[in-house]
Amino acid sequence: MVCKVCRGKAQVEVKSRGFALCKEHYLEWFVKETERAIRRHRMLHPGERVLVAVSGGKDSLALWDVLHRLGYEAVGLHLELGIGAYSRRSLEVTQAFAKERGLPLLVVDLKEAYGFGVPELAELSGRVACSACGLSKRYIINQVAVEEGFRVVATGHNLDDEAAVLFGNLLNPQEDALVRQGPVLPEKPGLAARVKPFYRFSEREVLSYTLLRGIRYLHEECPNAKGAKSLLYKEALNRVEKEMPGAKLRFLEGFLEKIQPRLKAEEEVALRECERCGYPTTGAICSFCRMWESVYRRAKRRHLLPEEAQFQPRVEPVRVG
Ligand SMILES: [Zn+2]
Ligand SMILES: [Zn+2]
Repeated sequence: MVCKVCRGKAQVEVKSRGFALCKEHYLEWFVKETERAIRRHRMLHPGERVLVAVSGGKDSLALWDVLHRLGYEAVGLHLELGIGAYSRRSLEVTQAFAKERGLPLLVVDLKEAYGFGVPELAELSGRVACSACGLSKRYIINQVAVEEGFRVVATGHNLDDEAAVLFGNLLNPQEDALVRQGPVLPEKPGLAARVKPFYRFSEREVLSYTLLRGIRYLHEECPNAKGAKSLLYKEALNRVEKEMPGAKLRFLEGFLEKIQPRLKAEEEVALRECERCGYPTTGAICSFCRMWESVYRRAKRRHLLPEEAQFQPRVEPVRVG
């Protein structure tokens, strides 16, 4: 196997695209390919200030690295979710990355901000952990972006993630979910734009970049992810990919380019301001505030919170570095 650019010894085989590259040219290709995705979908303006949601995993740290290298003013936001040692190590790895590179990092500690981390939140809200966690992440990341004046938030979702979501939405068809999926979600009042510059890279391709760049990341998966449906979907798609290189990318791109535009665009649902927090919602009170208010009610009944405790939706991120 030789590098398609320099004919030297190849380090990474990009099977889905039918070529191999040496370390130097892989690192170069990966950054350029990210830049192409950003330009093609007008995700970011040159040099723009962007909030990067960083978990400490390989994808989000690689994204932070690449966006910084591409000249964006990339500020990290880490959520400490309170999931035991896993969350502590996630924060440590993220902080170490920021410190080594002199990058600004914002941190929101869920337990400090609202009184409960994901495990207690799941238990008290009656939701499964991943649902309570996902809702909290989406809400807090957006709130920090809006309060801190960011137009756009970037996340490290890769091709495997996006293809698995699409596969799941086809197995349990819901038109609005299919219409909403995409690499760019435009901004609205009270909602920052959301972009996924890595959506065309497979998990393996991102991992190769992370390893070749010598980025230290947290290998360990969230303990709650075990048995998640998304893992089953990824496994199924990877079995197809193995026999048919490029299948995942064709699946996602084919959907986004050919099928999604023909789906009836969701009736533009009127967003209103949540009566509690003022952030966009379709109902009177947003699902984040509703979840926490019921958690506070239950916690008081169990004497886990004093009777006078009040849920405050607004969080203040802590600046690290
Ligand atoms: Zn080369
Ligand atoms: Zn609200």
